[in-house]
Amino acid sequence: MRTEINGNQLELMTGDITRQQTDAIVNAANGSLLGGGGVDGAIHRAAGPELLKECKQIRKELLHNEYLPTGEAVLTKGYQLPASYVIHTVGPVWNNSGSEPGLLANCYLSSLELAKEKNLSSISFPSISTGVYGYPIEKAAQVALQTITEFLQNHHFGKVVMTLFSEQDYEVYSQALKRVISV
Ligand code: ADP
Repeated sequence: MRTEINGNQLELMTGDITRQQTDAIVNAANGSLLGGGGVDGAIHRAAGPELLKECKQIRKELLHNEYLPTGEAVLTKGYQLPASYVIHTVGPVWNNSGSEPGLLANCYLSSLELAKEKNLSSISFPSISTGVYGYPIEKAAQVALQTITEFLQNHHFGKVVMTLFSEQDYEVYSQALKRVISV
C-alpha cells in the first residue's frame, strides 16, 4: 500500500528490513546498543561486526556509558547492509502506564529528524516495540502512522517505508493507515 503526502511517499510492505535499500533503516534497539534479539539481532548479523564496534564507541563517547534514552535516536553506518545508515532508536516497553504513546511517537520523530538532518531522503522502519517489548500492534500502528504522516505533511523528505515482518502485521498497519489518512 502506497500513499502520497505533500509530495512525499509513504509505503507499507511486508519483508525483511535488513534487505531494504533505503538510505537508512531503523533498528528497534535496546538502550545498551549492544544488540539483542528480534530485528536488532537480524540487523547486527546482516551488517557484520563493525556495526557493534561503532555502537560501542557511541555508547562510550556520545552517551558516556549511559543507556540511550527511550524515544531518542543515534545514527551509524550500515556496513554490509544495502542501506548506507542504521538509525538506532529505543522503543518503550508496554506496561500500560500512559507514557508509551508519547515515547513511541518520539522514536519515529527523532529518527525522521535525524535522517532529515543528515540529508537522507529514504528510510525504512520496522514495527517498533511490537515484538518483545509487547506494545499492542493496533495501538502502535496508529501512533507510528500518525507521527510519520504529520512529519511528512510538514517536511519535504522523500520516502518512508514501513517494513512489516508478517502479513498479519501488514494488515493491521494497512487498516490503521486508512484511518489516519481519511481524517
Ligand atoms: P521490540 O523490542 O522493539 O519489540 P522486536 O525486534 O522484538 O523489537 O520486534 C519489533 C518488530 O520487528 C516485530 O514486529 C518483529 O516481528 C519485527 N521483526 C523482527 N525481525 C525483523 C526483520 N528482519 N525485518 C523487519 N521486521 C522484523
